[in-house]
Amino acid sequence: MTPTHEAPADQIVRVARSLFTRGLTHGSTGNISVRTADGILVTPTGSSLGTVEADELSLVDDRGVHRSGPKPSKEAFLHAAILRARPGAHAVVHTHSTHSAAVSCLNGLDITNALPPLTAYYAMRVGRLPLLPYHAPGDTSLAAHAETTAATRHAMLLSNHGPVVAGASLAAAMDALEELEETAKLFLLLRGLPVNPLTEKQAAALAP
Ligand code: ZN
Repeated sequence: MTPTHEAPADQIVRVARSLFTRGLTHGSTGNISVRTADGILVTPTGSSLGTVEADELSLVDDRGVHRSGPKPSKEAFLHAAILRARPGAHAVVHTHSTHSAAVSCLNGLDITNALPPLTAYYAMRVGRLPLLPYHAPGDTSLAAHAETTAATRHAMLLSNHGPVVAGASLAAAMDALEELEETAKLFLLLRGLPVNPLTEKQAAALAP
């Protein structure tokens, strides 16, 4: 259960541990941010979500520029770009989760919607999933793509990389990221088999 009035730094650490211990992130990959009154609180560069502590987080401004604390994740600019585009969003989660990352490497994906609506929960929590072009780590030209995409979508998949999901709360962003990863797993399990995804009408009725 989510404690009420939990400080943003404590929320980030709790979600970081949850993602790491369940294998949704590995090594020093993955980053989490929460918008606060002072700026965007984000996990630091080179840290593991399995061990990062609340007093080790970085603060950046809405352009992703470092304000205080340890050096931010090299992907902080991506979080800032998405939060700029979505005033109603307060948190962003990005991982290199195995099945989503695997899908992001496939040839022939629909770049406007990389995964079909296989289940109702996917249709409710993710909806459409734009695929963004490959960028090398730290290439900030990804920010413009992410900002444009985030104006209309809260979830996106980075080619040869992984998912990025924004939410009104950190819990909502994490829920959507988990649903995306599970649907990526189903999609890979079902490759080569005849599949009945939800119809466009069924999916649209559940769209977030
Ligand atoms: Zn990444």
